[in-house]
Amino acid sequence: MNINKLKMNFPKTTIKENEPLSRYTYTKTGGPADALIFPKTKEEVQELIKWLNKEEWPVTILGNASNLIVKDGGIRGATIILTDMNQIVINENTIKVLTGAALIEVSRRAYQAGLTGLEFACGIPGSIGGAVYMNAGAYGGEVKEVIKAVTVLTRDGQMFERVNKDMDFSYRHSKLQETDEIALEVVFELKKGDEDEIKEKMDELTYLRTSKQPLEYPSCGSVFKRPTGYFTGKLIQDAGLQGLKWGGAQISTKHAGFIVNIDHATATDYIELIEHIKEVVLEKDGVQLETEVKIIGEDHPAEVGSKENLMKKATSTFQAQLEKIVPLTEEN
Ligand SMILES: Cc1cc2nc3c(=O)[nH]c(=O)nc-3n(C[C@H](O)[C@H](O)[C@H](O)COP(=O)(O)OP(=O)(O)OC[C@H]3O[C@@H](n4cnc5c(N)ncnc54)[C@H](O)[C@@H]3O)c2cc1C
Repeated sequence: MNINKLKMNFPKTTIKENEPLSRYTYTKTGGPADALIFPKTKEEVQELIKWLNKEEWPVTILGNASNLIVKDGGIRGATIILTDMNQIVINENTIKVLTGAALIEVSRRAYQAGLTGLEFACGIPGSIGGAVYMNAGAYGGEVKEVIKAVTVLTRDGQMFERVNKDMDFSYRHSKLQETDEIALEVVFELKKGDEDEIKEKMDELTYLRTSKQPLEYPSCGSVFKRPTGYFTGKLIQDAGLQGLKWGGAQISTKHAGFIVNIDHATATDYIELIEHIKEVVLEKDGVQLETEVKIIGEDHPAEVGSKENLMKKATSTFQAQLEKIVPLTEEN
């Protein structure tokens, strides 16, 4: 893998070497990307994929990095981040958008054009590509309900269109999770609506989100998928885990389904805390939690079982237990 050769072959593309991904992830954690590449067009992504394949570079795709944890060792090879590929074109009741655009921005533009159908998405911080890959949804809506077609790129560089019914959408799932195709462009089909009603709905959902979610801290949203018949936050609360600190990460005191970065957390803090939650909930309730968030990249050699790391965790767990003990006063 020769980064200079990559730069020479793509002189117009922004390429950052050994770039810390904690600058991009919503958790503010994660190690460096060997090469972080910012294409601006579909064709540029296609050319990159073909070239990187020929040179046998591993390739990772990122959108807004709001639903993933990049391990502390970072990502080897090429990491293509699509956020500069963000054109939005509105024509009557359709919106054609490149997949690096932010879902929040597309939802806002739909409202400004008097189009209804994307109100539910007004607070989901992903890119359009990430939203398609995850079939993102909230408050009863999912992107699958408003997507007409998706232009995809296979990992060997073939570009073609998939219509909605070929996308295999279901709860937090799309076909792309099986085929590993890259979403490049999406056509949304919306309906004409009343601007005031759209605005009212968006305001209501924003209020619900800000009152229930710990948006004041970095996080990756809901860490776990909702197990059938249960609420994840309640399972975690009932297991007595809410508020538990692990290194610099903490199970949110506002919403137990979120893990927030309260004090320079590492990805290892996140991953260990996730494993701990899974173990305790399985033991207490017999429910096997499954992560919604994707964990990618490589471990940092220094973080794996290092003495310092184990000491740090032991101390923070002990502190968390101490904080739960109510001090004895004259009243109690
Ligand atoms: C505070 C907060 C609140 C959230 N609320 C919600 C919510 O209400 N509902 C909800 O569904 N989610 C929610 N999320 C999670 C997240 O925003 C969504 O899952 C979002 O769709 C992820 O998009 P992204 O661009 O950030 O994807 P990333 O995190 O960058 O990537 C996630 C996965 O998608 C893949 N991917 C990204 N772009 C593409 C592409 N173009 N083609 C192929 N694969 C791609 C990546 O390789 C990765 O595997 C929340 C997250 C946070 C931090």
